[in-house]
Amino acid sequence: MSAPLERREELHFQGMACDACGQVFPKGALDEDRWCRDCAPRMRKRMAVWRHVVAALVVLPFGIWILRLDRLEFLPQAAWLLPLGAAYYLGFRIGREVVKGYSRWRRSR
Ligand SMILES: [Zn+2]
Repeated sequence: MSAPLERREELHFQGMACDACGQVFPKGALDEDRWCRDCAPRMRKRMAVWRHVVAALVVLPFGIWILRLDRLEFLPQAAWLLPLGAAYYLGFRIGREVVKGYSRWRRSR
């Protein structure tokens, strides 16, 4: 009775579960975000929206902090656009992981 176990292990090593629906697909059938063909368009749309939400949440407290510092006037206002832009970019990058982690967490429940 070792055959079913072996087959399951084979599936475990050669197949990959889609991060959105949890179905196991053969290696290579998933895209670089580990989504299957059915889930990818839906997840991409969701990702596009939520990445900006996460980025905004990262930038918002930073932006408020800068607006308060601005009264001290130790840097011209435009100079703060660079770190703010960098923070937004960082939030955008983090957002990708947050969205993926969230979809994985929801699937595992
Ligand atoms: Zn899927």
